[in-house]
Amino acid sequence: MSFNIRTGFGYDVHQLKEGLDFWLGGIKIPHTHGALGHSDADVLIHVICDALLGAANLRDIGYHFSDKDPKYKGIDSKILLREVMNLIREKGYEVGNIDSTVCLQEPKVNPHIPAMKTCLAEVMGIPEDDVSIKATTTEQLGFVGKKEGVAAYATVLIHRQAQ
Ligand SMILES: [Zn+2]
Repeated sequence: MSFNIRTGFGYDVHQLKEGLDFWLGGIKIPHTHGALGHSDADVLIHVICDALLGAANLRDIGYHFSDKDPKYKGIDSKILLREVMNLIREKGYEVGNIDSTVCLQEPKVNPHIPAMKTCLAEVMGIPEDDVSIKATTTEQLGFVGKKEGVAAYATVLIHRQAQ
């Protein structure tokens, strides 16, 4: 008996617009601006979904949850993440660990990281210790630095028992 181990990677960007709710890592962050998108535009959840789907070779988040489908308009991205976990578990995989980075000029993400970890671990049904979230600014450079948008990256490891 051996373990089948695979990695996945996710990248996503959303515009920031004044007056929108700012959802990040499954929680609402108090801020003047929020991310624009068809769903609740939670960029951190989106990259974790994409990394999980990629690791299991199950295409990407837009393939499963089209931004043309009114069913997903304004949807809580935690629902999408739960569905992605169902898809990878149906294929026999379990999560090993997740590592992620949010790129945002302001507000500070660090104070919210413990709450995000608790929330995401609960949604995915995995231990908090397997969910790493990091944050960085881009030193005022580029669209993140100019506060026009938020970006995120994630890698995951998934595994299943080989027959
Ligand atoms: Zn997205």
